[in-house]
Amino acid sequence: MSMAELQEAPPQATTATAPEPTMLEAVRAIADGPLRAAADATDRGTYPLDVLKRLGAAGAYAAHIGPGTEPGDYMAAIRAMTEVSRVCGASGFMVWCQQVCGLYLQQSGNPALTGARLAAHISGARLGATGMSNPMKSYAGIETLLLRAKPVAGGYRINGTLPWVSNLGVDHYAGVLAGVDSGDGVARELMFLLSCDAPGVELRDCPSFSAMEGTNTWAIRCTDVFVSADAVLADPAKPYIARIRGAFILLQTGFGLGVAQGAIDSMWRVEPQLGHVNRFLEDRPDDLQAELDALTTRIEGLCATPFSSDRDHLISVLDVRAHASELALRAAQSALLHAGARGYLLSSDVQRRVRESHFVAIVTPAIKHLRKEIARLSATEMPA
Ligand SMILES: Cc1cc2nc3c(=O)[nH]c(=O)nc-3n(C[C@H](O)[C@H](O)[C@H](O)COP(=O)(O)OP(=O)(O)OC[C@H]3O[C@@H](n4cnc5c(N)ncnc54)[C@H](O)[C@@H]3O)c2cc1C
Repeated sequence: MSMAELQEAPPQATTATAPEPTMLEAVRAIADGPLRAAADATDRGTYPLDVLKRLGAAGAYAAHIGPGTEPGDYMAAIRAMTEVSRVCGASGFMVWCQQVCGLYLQQSGNPALTGARLAAHISGARLGATGMSNPMKSYAGIETLLLRAKPVAGGYRINGTLPWVSNLGVDHYAGVLAGVDSGDGVARELMFLLSCDAPGVELRDCPSFSAMEGTNTWAIRCTDVFVSADAVLADPAKPYIARIRGAFILLQTGFGLGVAQGAIDSMWRVEPQLGHVNRFLEDRPDDLQAELDALTTRIEGLCATPFSSDRDHLISVLDVRAHASELALRAAQSALLHAGARGYLLSSDVQRRVRESHFVAIVTPAIKHLRKEIARLSATEMPA
């Protein structure tokens, strides 16, 4: 361009507004900034309230919630959880707690729990939890129900103790399930939203864990807690659980994918100095990345029908969840071998991730529970 042309050219806009970041970009920025700074303290016991609120404002808890009871974008929700878990597994687990509690509210169809209440939840203005390990294990025949509901005028009275529920606080709530006493046993199940500040609710300390200490995990003890229709998620609960079960498990894969991705990231970090000797190890970062990408693609396919109750779909969901656990375990272990002593320091994210990967593998549904369910569902295919 000549000087004359330059002088004639119209002035360029100097204040062009940058496009709004997408939800995933916003989540990534939080993960790389305040979340990374808080990860060590979260591991050791500090609840990252501010980070969890910021993630809500960025839309991390809303993507999977569609209009009415329709599913939203499950893969976007899983990717958000993956980005968080990649940096801090404890926070990634709490993203799942919040997302799955949003699913409970949405699918309840209860006007008291949808509308403004759901909106406050998925924006992160209110925080919630899930106490469904015990019911999920009860449905799989692994343990018996720990909460009991007694019908009374206008609702139910709840008694019993759930031993460990994460993401709790005085003004938080949890989706839980109780067996309804019919006088001669449990007639059906009731699922409801238990408020931590309801009369008769007591949060009790858990023993120290080897990781996830900042997840605000408590035992919830209920003594004659009154539950009215306004708090009911499902009564009876069985058909509702059948509808949401696949989505509950599928969402959780983001936790395992993220812990595995964080481990792979840490392997690449030491490659310039240690690649010459690390190349003699198994589970190298490029192999693990290829496996992780293929698993992510499989999960993306399953996200098209998150509420499907088709048996083959459910078996695939259980399988990807188990694969995510196994991959997180292998990647975290291999990352430690790649890092050597620097990964054995208490301050290292590499050893923290080993402990986080153990939790991915034992939180309900644990690998053993998943394999039991896959065997049960697969057996029903065989001729009688
Ligand atoms: C850090 C952490 C956070 C968790 N967060 C949640 C949550 O948010 N929501 C939720 O629903 N569940 C949560 N859980 C529970 C978890 O999902 C599993 O259900 C639980 O760890 C038990 O599974 P298990 O495979 O050990 O059970 P199993 O191996 O089948 O064990 C059988 C029973 O023994 C009990 N048990 C074993 N050891 C002990 C012990 N030392 N003290 C008391 N009881 C014991 C278990 O609770 C279980 O009921 C959390 C657990 C932990 C450790």
